Amino acid sequence: MTEDHGLLKRARELDAADQLASFRARFVGHDDATVRSYLDGNSLGRPLQASVERVQELMVHQWGGRLIRGWDETWLQLPKSIGDQLGRVALGAAPGQCIVADSTTVLLYKLARAAIQARPGRNRIVIDRDNFPSDRFIVEGIADECGLGLDWLEPPQDGGVDAELVRSAVGPDTALVLLSHVAYRSGYLADMPAITQAVHDAGALVLWDLCHSVGVIPVELDAWGVDLAVGCSYKYLNGGPGAPAWAYVSAEHQQFRQPIQGWIGSAAPFEMGPGYEPAPGIGRFASGTPPIIGMTAIQDMVDLIGSAGIQNVRDKSVALTEFAVEVTEELLAGYGVVISSPRDPAERGSHITIDHPSFKKVVGRLWDQGIIPDFREPDGLRLGLSPLSTSFEEVYVGVAAIEAELALG
Ligand SMILES: *Cc1c(COP(=O)(O)O)cnc(C)c1O
Repeated sequence: MTEDHGLLKRARELDAADQLASFRARFVGHDDATVRSYLDGNSLGRPLQASVERVQELMVHQWGGRLIRGWDETWLQLPKSIGDQLGRVALGAAPGQCIVADSTTVLLYKLARAAIQARPGRNRIVIDRDNFPSDRFIVEGIADECGLGLDWLEPPQDGGVDAELVRSAVGPDTALVLLSHVAYRSGYLADMPAITQAVHDAGALVLWDLCHSVGVIPVELDAWGVDLAVGCSYKYLNGGPGAPAWAYVSAEHQQFRQPIQGWIGSAAPFEMGPGYEPAPGIGRFASGTPPIIGMTAIQDMVDLIGSAGIQNVRDKSVALTEFAVEVTEELLAGYGVVISSPRDPAERGSHITIDHPSFKKVVGRLWDQGIIPDFREPDGLRLGLSPLSTSFEEVYVGVAAIEAELALG
């Protein structure tokens, strides 16, 4: 390997000038010498030290001390209060439109079914082939279940779905368009306001999956007229493995009916009534008992994003992906590595995907050395950069280690 001291020096200068650099020390493991470069914060964000304390306080004092009284005193409010906090800090959503519940997969099902039912007489769903598996599988299931047809968009592999492509696919039969804001593989950042407008011009509803953008890219769900959105909370929201997801249902659509009619989403759960009457407002999109321990840590990361400022988080994310592109071009292009992500940062989320036929073989060796990107079939390494916990030096160290592995052949 030819250590490129010029790039290392630049990485250190970028870290020294970074206004958000000090946030990194708040994450558990930031000083763990066995993890030299964590490039998978887009898949599982690091825990915050504040969350360790918050979860402990929950277990010892609330659960251990308050026991069943905890539900009335605190826990039953959490799905909506964390939803409101998230809406304010990261989603551009006024209170009463977001709720934490279930997994992204389950919420996709619930909201997609609710949307279909709200557009009677329309029998087609539009989705793209590069969407995340759950998104595709869920609409395939709903199409079977409800006798609907699917219209598949075919975006370019290193890009994604734009408004023109959507306009060419929607029409008077379209009930729902389901898209990811940031494509999980290419990192393409879709133009949410323009696409939402294109869907509405056809009289259809749009459901946005924000798994790869929530907490790292500012959005204005209310101002952009978004109908429905979902996202997970273990990626850039650092809620921990299997932390529950969140749903946004605009105030305008809260009369929609979702299909998993459970007691917690009913109007009067503790009356144990004879029939299902949905709760008014966002509460009806819940189904069963909320996973309280699972959603506890989300609060700390949303607080932290709030104190950093979501636009500052986005600015650092752009700087990190720009640097990752630069280092990749300098160190890896000579080995035939291809960047399969948009070059324009305005069209890119917080990760880049690089492709090379050796990556499948190389990734295990990288993990053994504490260099942790993730692998995506058939030959992609995804470098995910979580702005409050990833340093520029980590980006350099990671890419330099990939070069060293490619040099070994
Ligand atoms: C991570 C991710 C999911 C995950 O769904 P789960 O139900 O939490 O497993 C869904 N959609 C997209 C686009 C994702 O990136």
